[in-house]
Amino acid sequence: MTSDEKNFIVQQGLPDELLMDAKGQSVKQIVETMKSNGKVFAYNTTPCDQFGHTIRTRAGHCVMCDTARIAFILRQVSFGTVYIAGSINGQLIKIGTTSSKLIRAESLNRTKYGSQDDWEILFSFRCLNSGTIEFETQKVLKPYMAANINYLHEGRSQKSNELFRCSYKRAKDSILQVIDELNVEIFGQSEKAFRIEDYNFRTLRKL
Ligand SMILES: [Zn+2]
Repeated sequence: MTSDEKNFIVQQGLPDELLMDAKGQSVKQIVETMKSNGKVFAYNTTPCDQFGHTIRTRAGHCVMCDTARIAFILRQVSFGTVYIAGSINGQLIKIGTTSSKLIRAESLNRTKYGSQDDWEILFSFRCLNSGTIEFETQKVLKPYMAANINYLHEGRSQKSNELFRCSYKRAKDSILQVIDELNVEIFGQSEKAFRIEDYNFRTLRKL
């Protein structure tokens, strides 16, 4: 990787997990490898006509000439962080996604999500199709949905479909099951190391 490529990748926040080294491969090989490995951008490609840039999309577009394409593609592939958060005070589990790499509980606590301010991130990872993983997990956990909890969003009271009354263990098992069924590769998995068992709330299944 050249220093120009390196700087560009860092500046634009291209996720490492989506990058492929195209060195010494034909265009056909590159596209095939990208598809089968879930890669979205390639570096070390043949230089672009206009400026000799060497980072391209799967479709062969130069992202250094057209940086707007990056955000568009990342949205399209729904690359993001999926997380489980827990609140001991509320005995609540939240399944959510975010596009940012670093996931912190601060914004949940600042906005008193679900009327709680002791949220902690219990489990998180990054993957493609993060929106689908979130949606399918919420579907699996639907019997445990805390449907009676409203939260304020932009001054209006809304119902959340992201809050559940179940144990952390059940939430994690459900996410892992969805990942397995959809055969999604996950990156940067991290789990809260300290007193995670405190979040194994008693399950209150709706009748
Ligand atoms: Zn270019």
